[in-house]
Parts: sequence; structure tokens; C-alpha cells
Amino acid sequence: MTASLPSLPFRIGQGWDTHALVSGRPLVLGGVAIPFEKGLAGHSDADALIHAVIDALLGAAGLGDIGTLFPDTDATFKDADSARLLQAAVTLVHQAGWRVGNIDVTVVAQAPRLGPYKAAMRTRLATLLAVPADCVNVKAKTAEKMGPVGEGLSIEAQAVALLVAA
Ligand code: MG
Repeated sequence: MTASLPSLPFRIGQGWDTHALVSGRPLVLGGVAIPFEKGLAGHSDADALIHAVIDALLGAAGLGDIGTLFPDTDATFKDADSARLLQAAVTLVHQAGWRVGNIDVTVVAQAPRLGPYKAAMRTRLATLLAVPADCVNVKAKTAEKMGPVGEGLSIEAQAVALLVAA
């Protein structure tokens, strides 16, 4: 029998989300309103980028997933501001004895071009996560016109988070 190893003072988590692009909805990504002719469909404000970050944080802390915490069957979360959901998730992470080390996000959209909004999304996310801006990175890509994202039907986001024992 080997002795059980001490638990690591770090945890890594991964998150992914996608929402359909539809007319008649505002486009909000990373907590930033982005002018565009369409927005993301969903029960909340459908901020796929923040949803991916929430799942990365919850995953790292071993706290499950966004759908369990904020069910889309709950009227409380109808058109919910995902920034508030992120802050609630960060509180849970802190309560579990972790602080946010850094997060890295990739958002994939054929349109609109998100490059001009990366800095604003980074600043906003850092504020919501209560970490310095250099602990947050936002990358934006297109899907080279392939698949549902590339055809402009949806937007997708992926995130990883590192937590450090508080
Ligand atoms: Mg979502």
C-alpha cells in the first residue's frame, strides 16, 4: 500500500458553451454588449463566453456545472445577467477554499469580428473574477466559414481556469 498523496494546491478546470445566433436578441459576450444585428438565444442572456468560464471554475473546484447550479427551468434565471451568475460562482469557489489563479478563453464567431472587444471583455472578466487583468486572457477566432459557427448560426466559447488554494 502506498501512502495517499497530499492534495495539490492547484486545480484545473475546463468549460465549453455554445448558443444559437438569432434576430431580436442583444449580443453579450464576456459581459460586454456588442453591437450586432443578432444576439444569442437562451434562457439567460446567453453569454456563452461567461458560461464557459463558469463551467471551468466549477469544474476546477469540483462543484459540478452551470446547469445544475442555475437551471434553465428556474424562472429566477430567465434573461439573467450572466455577470451576476459568474460572481455567484466565484463566491462558491472562494467558499470552497480556492482563489482564481488565471483563466484563458477562446471565443469562436464568424461574425461580428470580436477583436476590437477583446480588451473590454478581459477588463470586465477580471473585475467580475476579482483578479488582475493579466490573470485573464481572451482570444477570438473565426471558424473559417465551416460548421454552424462558421455559417453564422452560432457562437462558441471554451475556457480553462486554474484555481490556487486560498
Ligand atoms: Mg450557456
